Amino acid sequence: MSDYYATLGLERNASQDEIKKAYRKSALKHHPDKNPDDPKAEQKFKEISEAYEVLSNDQKRQVYDQYGADALKGGAGMGGAPGAGGFSSMDEALRTFMNAFGGGMGGGGETIFDSFFGFNNDSSESSAQQGTSKKMRLTLSFNEAVKGAKKEAFITNYSHCSRCKGSGAKSPSDVKKCMTCGGSGQVHQSRGFFSMAAVCPNCHGNGKQITTPCTDCSGAGRIRQKQKIDIDIPAGIDSGMRLRMGGYGDAGSNGGPPGDLYIYIDVEPHSVFQRDGDDVIIELPISFTEAALGCKKEIPTPKGTSYRITIPDGSQNEKVLRVRGEGIPNVHGQGTGDLFVKIAVETPVRLSEKQKNLLSTFAELESEHNSPRKKSFLNKVKGFFSGE
Ligand SMILES: [Zn+2]
Ligand SMILES: [Zn+2]
Repeated sequence: MSDYYATLGLERNASQDEIKKAYRKSALKHHPDKNPDDPKAEQKFKEISEAYEVLSNDQKRQVYDQYGADALKGGAGMGGAPGAGGFSSMDEALRTFMNAFGGGMGGGGETIFDSFFGFNNDSSESSAQQGTSKKMRLTLSFNEAVKGAKKEAFITNYSHCSRCKGSGAKSPSDVKKCMTCGGSGQVHQSRGFFSMAAVCPNCHGNGKQITTPCTDCSGAGRIRQKQKIDIDIPAGIDSGMRLRMGGYGDAGSNGGPPGDLYIYIDVEPHSVFQRDGDDVIIELPISFTEAALGCKKEIPTPKGTSYRITIPDGSQNEKVLRVRGEGIPNVHGQGTGDLFVKIAVETPVRLSEKQKNLLSTFAELESEHNSPRKKSFLNKVKGFFSGE
């Protein structure tokens, strides 16, 4: 059985202020958006939200103190949020979170909420704000990167609540003038001789108050929703590149535009092709007789076709042949890279007697003109042996 006080690190006589502070601190730390794909943080977030939901309500807290959490389950006659005393869904926990930051009514807590996600709007709480932009990573195979691809992914965003169209109110008549400021969005405070205007703490400057919140979003005006998206991968994309999908971030608030989604690309290495920007390098092993006599070879290209390449006679190991336009299409449509074929001459192994005899005969016929590098080397080191 969970101890709600221990969950929030509180004494049993904690004040409402202390409860709220403890929850806010812990909730920001364990919020799922700060800990993506971390089931532990998710569980913790649900637990603290459940604890807060009960302890922040004096009536529920009293029942809990006297009879324990079980007395709250089922919720009959409690009149509180459904599911109090047993948060199973993340949506309930997130609703509690929004409410704890004042976001439940009139869209007030957006400032704290959004500053947590990296947006700071200072005193202009009621002005239009762009939604939070999101990031994701996507791994592609070499072939998908070369040819382009269509991929599916799932993202979880705050989208406008369709029931209230983002207003947060159950019906348009549930939006009333703010009682605290009379709809002006400002309150006047006396400081000594001065009267100073400040943003209304009740409506956070928008001058409105919601009397009955929307049942779907609890007044937040937006809802966390999982959404399937189609991603168009352009041909020629490479590791380290970033795709931007405009408007695929969180919905904006107060009529602001939505954020964007940024997709960071990783491309898996290929077993044969080695990529260098738009160019591709392939290593082609040939025998030493093929290197000496010259030959023709079929090589694969990144496009998936084959290309017949001529290896000239006398090709040395590591010689590089260039095949123009057989690399990877440039992702910005600026031409196509080249395919570089790097020759790897293989010295023959496991020779038969007959092969050995033939090579011995060849060796007898070999002259220094056949091996210019060897000749040059011998000339250079001659001095060392004769002591000059
Ligand atoms: Zn709604
Ligand atoms: Zn107000």
